[in-house]
Amino acid sequence: MTNVTVCDGCQNEITINLQEYEHPAHKFKGYVVETYFKCPHCQKKYIAFVLDKQARKMQKEIRQYHQQIIKRDYSGLTEEEYKAKIDEQYAVMEGMKQKLNVRIDELKAQVTELYKGEGGYE
Ligand SMILES: [Zn+2]
Repeated sequence: MTNVTVCDGCQNEITINLQEYEHPAHKFKGYVVETYFKCPHCQKKYIAFVLDKQARKMQKEIRQYHQQIIKRDYSGLTEEEYKAKIDEQYAVMEGMKQKLNVRIDELKAQVTELYKGEGGYE
């Protein structure tokens, strides 16, 4: 993600300054933390991503899996076998990332709905 974007609301160029907001437990179960930024000109709020306990666990699993790929002993493999092994593992990791993105999108949609319900979004 770049650090500069154009605001949909006021068309001004804005520098993305990410902030975190933890949703109160009575509204959202699972320790939901939203990462967002606001347009300093018109105050329009943009949600970058939302993570809950499950999503953070998935993130951790992806990091651990990546470490495994790096640290695994590949000695004794031919160049081709090595490449195939690496490709195979990266494909698995991509799958994990996609699942995480689906979860993040779900959470983002839930948070957006919540704000709509409160009439407080934007
Ligand atoms: Zn704006």
